[in-house]
Amino acid sequence: MRVTDLTTPALLVDVDALDANLADMAQALPGPRLRPHVKAHKTTELARRQAGVGHAGFTCATVREVEGMTAAGLGEDLLLANEVLDARRLGALDARVTLAVDSEETLAAAVAGGVREVLVDVNIGLPRCGIAPDRAGRLADRARAAGLTVRGVMGYEGHLMMLGDVAERARLTEECMGRLLAAHADVGGELVSGGGTGTYALNTWVTEVQAGSYALMDTAYTAAGLPFRQALTVLGTVISVTAPAGEVPGWAVADVGLKALGMDHGNPAVPGAQVWFCSDEHLTFAPDEPLRVGDRVRVVPAHVDPTVTLHERMHLVRGDDADDPEVLDTWAVDLRGW
Ligand code: PLP
Ligand code: MN
Repeated sequence: MRVTDLTTPALLVDVDALDANLADMAQALPGPRLRPHVKAHKTTELARRQAGVGHAGFTCATVREVEGMTAAGLGEDLLLANEVLDARRLGALDARVTLAVDSEETLAAAVAGGVREVLVDVNIGLPRCGIAPDRAGRLADRARAAGLTVRGVMGYEGHLMMLGDVAERARLTEECMGRLLAAHADVGGELVSGGGTGTYALNTWVTEVQAGSYALMDTAYTAAGLPFRQALTVLGTVISVTAPAGEVPGWAVADVGLKALGMDHGNPAVPGAQVWFCSDEHLTFAPDEPLRVGDRVRVVPAHVDPTVTLHERMHLVRGDDADDPEVLDTWAVDLRGW
């Protein structure tokens, strides 16, 4: 099968860009220094490739992701870095599962679900999950009293990931990590988990970084100055243009609408064109060169995670549309759903 044989919209992964990203990150954060977050790609075959460059432990956001990773034989050390009130499916898994807790209620859910190991999730500035740093030690004591092993702390500085001023991003990361280390002094345990693609090179305080987007990338992280290559695109077909073949149309329309794209970081990009807007099933853009109905375009998403999760599979390719590359492999996006 070649790229022209694919029905659109379809996820394409440039396998050379992916492998370069995995290699570069593995060099910066080898082995257990990186605990890749699977929510960014939701694909066990991609996780297997990350394991292949040395990362045995993974970060998950949902029970479903933990189950899928376990079923794929990747359950050596899974951190569910999120609060869950129903952990009943976790305890029975043939995997090492560590669950984040930030309240009496989530701790009780871990106990009820038969989970044996927890991390205390600490709020370090992002108004989302996490217990206040000065209450973390007490929650850890309660967890130990309930018979659980407390492996340490996590704290996610998600509000800093895309700060344009890198020096400011670094300064605020240090401030957030000060809160996390203060909590860690009370909690104990060997793990200090946090960070993401935007801070992987700045956050020197954690014992492991939870980055996920780096593998496939998006335009928002490229704009934030991250050095990874854009591996993910959404292949589309031009379905309408405003000018006859051979002329540069005022605008053109491709079949990659907001149902094929995560849009919360804004419009996608089309190389060699200005994107105007997306509607449900349409992308309207003004190309710099002549374009005709039936041409293919590669649309670059602004936000990788919510784009990938809209698709059932991703196709691995090498090279660009000019040589109609062969589809080297197709991976199921098998960690979707809840
Ligand atoms: N850790 C947690 C808890 C997250 O929610 C995320 C993403 O939102 C990440 C880590 C890292 O993700 P990214 O690689 O996209 O920065
Ligand atoms: Mn994201």
